[in-house]
Amino acid sequence: MNKNIICIFCEDETNVTKFGTTKTNIQRYRCKACGKSFQTDYLYRGKESLALSYTIQKLSSSGYSPEEIRKMTDARQETIFRHLNN
Ligand SMILES: [Zn+2]
Repeated sequence: MNKNIICIFCEDETNVTKFGTTKTNIQRYRCKACGKSFQTDYLYRGKESLALSYTIQKLSSSGYSPEEIRKMTDARQETIFRHLNN
């Protein structure tokens, strides 16, 4: 099953392609819509960024269960539920 990566800059989810990896082996992506590159790391690490919130809500509205979202984002269950209840 293919899960779209959402651009953290313009939130486009149809023009993001793989763009190699970093030295630490983190997958990088490039958004063809805005031309910027980023790591999924940005989406999933750190303190409940806007990107994480957006990702959780986007996945949820796409029909993914909280458990599936947890596996995909590495976020804690309680974090996910908090975002979903917003
Ligand atoms: Zn973009």
